[in-house]
Amino acid sequence: MALADHHRRPLRSLRLSLTDRCNLRCAYCMPEEKYHWLPRADILQFEELSRLVDAFTALGVDRLRLTGGEPLLRQDLPELVAALAAKPAIRDLALTTNGLRLAPVASALRRAGLDRITLSLDTLDPARFQRLTRRDDLARALEGLAAAQEAGFTGTKLNMVVIRGFNDDELLPMLVLGRRYGAQVRFIEYMDVGGASGWSMAQVVPKQEILERLTEAFGAPPEPQAGRGSAPATEYRLADGSACGIIASTTEPFCGDCDRSRVTADGMWFLCLYAVAGHDLRGLIRRGADDAELRRHLSQVWSSRADRGAQERAALHLEQRTAQPGQAASFHHEMHVRGG
Ligand code: SAM
Ligand code: SF4
Ligand code: SF4
Repeated sequence: MALADHHRRPLRSLRLSLTDRCNLRCAYCMPEEKYHWLPRADILQFEELSRLVDAFTALGVDRLRLTGGEPLLRQDLPELVAALAAKPAIRDLALTTNGLRLAPVASALRRAGLDRITLSLDTLDPARFQRLTRRDDLARALEGLAAAQEAGFTGTKLNMVVIRGFNDDELLPMLVLGRRYGAQVRFIEYMDVGGASGWSMAQVVPKQEILERLTEAFGAPPEPQAGRGSAPATEYRLADGSACGIIASTTEPFCGDCDRSRVTADGMWFLCLYAVAGHDLRGLIRRGADDAELRRHLSQVWSSRADRGAQERAALHLEQRTAQPGQAASFHHEMHVRGG
């Protein structure tokens, strides 16, 4: 029988964080002035990552997403991608990136066997980009998006965290950009996780409101497409025939179908974006666990998984629902460590 957790959710999708470092400082993810980085010796080597992936695929994982921090800061990424793409069990190998370093390596990543790219971009206004990310680098992110298309990637996604009063007037320009580069825009509700220390519900633009704004702009309501499955985004067809996605992590959490888990760059396995504690896989590997032991451990841990973090947070009263603790509490709680 296929491996399932406490709520009968299978183990299918794995997000591998390749580094906790980043070349941006998005206010909702890395707001602090200084960060304590994971010690280099603790970061999983390519061989360790490959071994872990083999253990996960043996238990049902067939979708892999490389993330971070900024995964393109990791040296020799095409080499790792080639090794992972060569594993027959992996049906979908994707990368989430801010795009800054994408242009020079997009073709190499495509040749190495990367299937899809998700590029995170929240604004098309250079001054806003600088304010949000504390870096004046919008042009490079846009070059990265263009390079993904030139390299022949299809199925590219353009992720935009929608924040009231900051970029919620940019829904349409983002759709235009996506159309131009063959990328599907996904509007993401701002989440109270990790570094989102200034989060408040007032800044969240709920999915319903995004739909109302699109209805007004296009003169007809976006039509939901069937069959989201376990994917976080609900897909909509817009009146002009194009498509977009909405990820309502805050107002309509989708924990019931969640088959995702995350491994941090230092090998901590988190069963939920909001999980307080992780499971130390690096320790297990470096203590010399053989493949069978590794699989047995993963299997035991997943079988007892009962996490429904976003649903539990949604059930909190608003006054209790402020930001999650920041880095002071634990760097493993941070989005740039855990991977989005
Ligand atoms: N650096 C890469 C990037 O930005 O695409 C990969 C890592 S980043 C942590 C992954 C995703 O998490 C990004 O799309 C980012 O916008 C999203 N993210 C980070 N903090 C968030 C928050 N508080 N609410 C919603 N999405 C968030
Ligand atoms: Fe870096 Fe991505 Fe976090 Fe922005 S969202 S600070 S690009 S890890
Ligand atoms: Fe999955 Fe946790 Fe996100 Fe819910 S909050 S969808 S259980 S990762």
